[in-house]
Amino acid sequence: EPALLAMQDIEVAFSVGKKDYPALQGISFEVREKEVLGIVGESGCGKSLTSLSVMGLLPGAAKISKGKIVLGDSDVTNLTAEAWCKIRGKQISMIFQDPMTALNPLVPIGRQIEETVLIHSAISKKEAKQRALEMMTKVGLSRVEQLYHEYPHQLSGGMRQRVMIAMALICEPQLLIADEPTTALDVTIQAQILDLLRQMNQETGTAIIFISHDLGVIREVCDRVIVMYAGYIVEDAPVAELLEAPKHPYTLGLLQSIPDIEKRGQPLYTISGRVPAITERSTGCPFVGRCSSASPTCERSVPDLAPVSDTHRVRCHLYSEVGEVI
Ligand code: SF4
Ligand code: MG
Repeated sequence: EPALLAMQDIEVAFSVGKKDYPALQGISFEVREKEVLGIVGESGCGKSLTSLSVMGLLPGAAKISKGKIVLGDSDVTNLTAEAWCKIRGKQISMIFQDPMTALNPLVPIGRQIEETVLIHSAISKKEAKQRALEMMTKVGLSRVEQLYHEYPHQLSGGMRQRVMIAMALICEPQLLIADEPTTALDVTIQAQILDLLRQMNQETGTAIIFISHDLGVIREVCDRVIVMYAGYIVEDAPVAELLEAPKHPYTLGLLQSIPDIEKRGQPLYTISGRVPAITERSTGCPFVGRCSSASPTCERSVPDLAPVSDTHRVRCHLYSEVGEVI
């Protein structure tokens, strides 16, 4: 079964002044049909940049400097803006943390949902409205006939996120990218939106790339997870395997930072230090400055993303085979 999306050794660089700084390096992974893939890491690790490169939406100062992105059977690495418009919304779509920035405040929400269909299919306005109302019901919105005429500011944050999901899924894309879609919502609404995404994945078969800084959220919704740090994939495994047998010191830190109901009220563990900015990155392991297992080898060379099982890869010298004795 071919992959829906294949990222092949992608490097993204930012131009700052006259210099190019790599912001993503050696990004290789695949998304299969119906799969829910999580991407986790702190802010500044390259999660959003990875998804923007998949969507052809990199900011102006950034460019893909190496590698290939294959969507279905086409190479989309260097598509024109025009070609991207035909793909976005139809084959692949995206929802963001803050629907307010993605919704037009001046257009009633029903019209915004049906416009997505009208762009991509030759159906009548009446049919488009029907599809929009059906989709609104499907994502758990109620009194949809009335809601159809309302404006984004009249809706709660949770409802707006449901509207975004309706817009993203109305053309039945094969792949949905959800970038921190529940971060701005309170815990109860967050759980409802996660349930909805999982339900839509099961009903429609839409594969999802789910991005979050919170491994606790990732483990609720994802089949497989990629851990990113400072522009690199540092670990990649099925969720159960990652939780049972985490390998990378950064993953261990993230796992310890998951809020634990039993320890409520106690201060949350945080990994000391911070993610280096793209202008501060060195030649060694990206995590070396924060790692309690670091050795001189780690200062000198970036470890490969190497398999530790058929389904599990890790980028750390502690697990490299010969020659790298620590
Ligand atoms: Fe830590 Fe070295 Fe592994 Fe990097 S390669 S995570 S510094 S032990
Ligand atoms: Mg982000």
